[in-house]
Amino acid sequence: MRRLLGAVIIANILAGALVLRIPNAPAELAAAAPPRQCDWNTEYERTIKELGEDPRDVVRVAGIARKGQAYLDAHMIGINPTTPCDMVSSVIRHEWAHVQQGRLAGGLDAAWRKYGDRLEIVADCTSWLLGSKHTPYRQQRIDDHFPGCTAADLADARELLGFRSPADVSVR
Ligand SMILES: [Zn+2]
Repeated sequence: MRRLLGAVIIANILAGALVLRIPNAPAELAAAAPPRQCDWNTEYERTIKELGEDPRDVVRVAGIARKGQAYLDAHMIGINPTTPCDMVSSVIRHEWAHVQQGRLAGGLDAAWRKYGDRLEIVADCTSWLLGSKHTPYRQQRIDDHFPGCTAADLADARELLGFRSPADVSVR
């Protein structure tokens, strides 16, 4: 009986050793897996969907001069097909924030009056709140030793995130 108990204890220790061995397995599997590939169309579609927009109404993929472009009166954004895949979601979110500025304020001129020289940083802070890694206007501020987004910028950004205009409700 004593020998049997001893065998059971040893078996448990062995089982414990096996259980302890398991946490290494995912890391080994991850190391063996190929690196995650960035797929441009997946990033594009995922971001438009995340924003609750219909790509047919809001976005054009076009050979524009910059990575992205916003049309505040038309409530449209353009994205350049040469925009690097890892920037696609950040650029779409930033340009969408400009569209929201146009929707909320009532067009480009009204948006300029409302945001003034904070038009870009508010768009970047909105993009940043949505999880964007590429926020060049915010980064420039940080590089200049200022806060990336001030409390006022974040308040305006949150207002844009919460805004749903009656004209665009149908696409959400
Ligand atoms: Zn901008």
